[in-house]
Amino acid sequence: MTVSQHPVQPTDPATVSELAEAVQGGLPRTVADLSALVRIPSVSWDAFDPAHVAASADAVAALVRDTGLFDDVRVSRAPIGDTGQHGQPAVLARRAARDGAPTVLLYAHHDVQPQGDDAAWDTPPFEPTLKGDRLYGRGASDDKAGVITHVAALRAVREVLGDDLRVGVSLFVEGEEEFGSRSFADFLVQHRDELAADVIVVADSDNWSTTVPAITVGLRGNVTFRLTVRTLAHASHSGMLGGAVPDAMLALVKLLATLHDDRGSVAVEGLTSREADHPEQSEETLREESGLLEGVSPIGTGPILSRVWSQPSITVTGIDAPSVANASNTLIPEASVRISARIAPGQTAASAYAALEAHLLSHAPFGAHVEIEDVDQGEPFLVDTTGWAISEATAAMTEGWGAAPVQTGIGGSIPFIADLVATFPEAQILVTGVEDPDTRAHSPNESQHLGVLHRAILSEAILLARLDARA
Ligand SMILES: [Zn+2]
Repeated sequence: MTVSQHPVQPTDPATVSELAEAVQGGLPRTVADLSALVRIPSVSWDAFDPAHVAASADAVAALVRDTGLFDDVRVSRAPIGDTGQHGQPAVLARRAARDGAPTVLLYAHHDVQPQGDDAAWDTPPFEPTLKGDRLYGRGASDDKAGVITHVAALRAVREVLGDDLRVGVSLFVEGEEEFGSRSFADFLVQHRDELAADVIVVADSDNWSTTVPAITVGLRGNVTFRLTVRTLAHASHSGMLGGAVPDAMLALVKLLATLHDDRGSVAVEGLTSREADHPEQSEETLREESGLLEGVSPIGTGPILSRVWSQPSITVTGIDAPSVANASNTLIPEASVRISARIAPGQTAASAYAALEAHLLSHAPFGAHVEIEDVDQGEPFLVDTTGWAISEATAAMTEGWGAAPVQTGIGGSIPFIADLVATFPEAQILVTGVEDPDTRAHSPNESQHLGVLHRAILSEAILLARLDARA
């Protein structure tokens, strides 16, 4: 955990308590608005009715308009490259900064994952259901609670600071994050001026617990590709030639075995790790979360969270070879696998791919022919924790939660963040969120902890007030 480089003053206590009162007072309406959004099954995948995503965009636009803070609120769609297709509708709003105040871009997404198997849900997925501290439903957390956090924080800020707000606010609520953000890059290009900001808040990540917030400062990147190994011009009877020539599976298995050392750490020269401090996580928690079988050991070295956040990993995620049912006594001439590598923050996807390619080509056993195709790369992301925005956010979260945020990493990636960085290289990016370890985003019985929602809204309202005070 990095110590903040920019010492900042605490927020004016009167402002904090007025914001706290406004957020608290608005909570019933906040939960009602969130529930209304959850009732719209805005699944953005191709096979689902796009009318729901359109209705969801309109509902979000109405909430944003109703804050009374924006000069302009629009529902907009961008083309997907030169495919002739358009992406799902996003909500875009802008309020110009005044008196030299900074501008903040607030990001969330209003589309959701499919609900999956209805029978696996304890409550109907699109009927928001309150049980204890949690509101259940698809999208109740990911990421409709992110949308509502922005709306409720803006309402509280308007109530307390009035119409004279100086901070500039852009709002971008995407409609296809769960379907690969296909038009995201085009949207940024099309609306570059309206979206330009000094600080970007991406409210689509996790907290450390329901009582301790987190700022996500590292995301691993990824490199995936198809690897094919060939050793023979045609199949032959294994009884006739087996033992004298290598089959493709033997060569492939031996090649894959070179990717890790005996402890299971990645053994590819040129793939780098990131040096950083990591919060403690016990092996017991890892075993529980992963369902590791009795007697099976974890892999890798170093702190567990360093292995997941800051070191590379390589996984074989699929294989094309004769199935067991179709197995005959044959030497297989060719076999393919899909390789999925996660790469540590600090390395570019291109250099990680180059290292993997060089390793695979130079380690092919028996001179086997190796071919790599369908390469897909996503950049890792590392927040510059020396910027002033993270100091402002840390102060705001500490006041809003009553606990300092943990700076965390994520083993997976949020691919569109690379697009944001590429389009707005000067902007400071803050990855916050409304999830907690029990949220079960993307799974049955997804839920939002309402205490977390409350604290996330207050923190964001305090952050907006702090940015306003930088005028
Ligand atoms: Zn999300």
